[in-house]
Amino acid sequence: MKNNVSLKEIGEALKAAESVLIFPHVNPDGDALGSAAALCCALRRSGKNAWILMEEETPEYIGFLDKGYCTRDKDCVGIPDVCICVDCSEEDRFPGRADAFRRGKVRLTLDHHAVDRGAGDYYYVDPSEAAAAQIVFKLLKEMGEPLESAIAEPLYAGIVTDTGSFQYSNTTAETHRIVGELFEAGIDHTGIMIRLYQNVSFKKVELQRRILETMEVFAKGRAAIAYVTEEMLKETGAVLDDAEGTVDILRNIEGVEIAAFLKEKPEEVKVSMRAKSYGNVDVIARKFGGGGHIKAAGCTMELPVAEAADILKKEIIASFGALEND
Ligand code: 5GP
Ligand code: MN
Repeated sequence: MKNNVSLKEIGEALKAAESVLIFPHVNPDGDALGSAAALCCALRRSGKNAWILMEEETPEYIGFLDKGYCTRDKDCVGIPDVCICVDCSEEDRFPGRADAFRRGKVRLTLDHHAVDRGAGDYYYVDPSEAAAAQIVFKLLKEMGEPLESAIAEPLYAGIVTDTGSFQYSNTTAETHRIVGELFEAGIDHTGIMIRLYQNVSFKKVELQRRILETMEVFAKGRAAIAYVTEEMLKETGAVLDDAEGTVDILRNIEGVEIAAFLKEKPEEVKVSMRAKSYGNVDVIARKFGGGGHIKAAGCTMELPVAEAADILKKEIIASFGALEND
């Protein structure tokens, strides 16, 4: 993967802009929103008219990252000088806003997913970075922006969520060095951790109990699958965001290498997959038009949830076959 510009050039394009629209991916996670919030905060502090353009309500568990940055109004800055997508590289990761992205006079990408190229005119993509927040950290440094706690906190949330609190193999010495600098900027580390992980509603726990009843361990104990239906949401009063994190519970089971979690939506099923050590879920997700990283990937399937689960199980079993043949 080769970048077509440096962070310096991305920084120069942002500095030359008066209005900037930032595009995190759909169903934003802590990294997508954290990266966008840190960038938005820094740009506003240097006098820019900057907004994060969303296409859905902000998930409750990361709502604290939005300090008045998010809008759903595509016309909030008229024709933006710069549109920049973060934590994603392709228009199908922000489908409801692709038209708004294309209206930018200059279009940029900042991402850490393994892709061939970024959306827009210039891109900076580095799959070796644990989080898009690490790239935003480096970009702001390059731009000479001071690292204040209002910028460091969303960056910390991005790094914490994308590294699974520093558990995943994407975590490096550099990750810890960056986090060291974020601490020095005066972040409320325990406050962020409590908001992210120790603030679980009863409805969510109840929903997880129902979801775990659907759990199936297969492929000789090396894979686990479970799903959530709209019916379960109705019964518990929970929302789909409350199912977030379930795929990690499946992946954490002893002996399980690949975990898949299916979320039933009105017209489709959204699949989340994780691998623990040697599996590659990016390859499996790509078979269904999705993608992501080797150890965390997803796709969308237009099938009833039970049928989608059956087809996915077959691909997962086949992937173990492929691994064994290596
Ligand atoms: P999650 O399971 O947390 O929704 O997503 C895990 C990873 O896979 C994330 O890095 C996300 O960007 C990527 N991902 C999830 N769904 C899709 C999809 O439909 N297409 C692509 N290209 N990537 C996805
Ligand atoms: Mn990310």
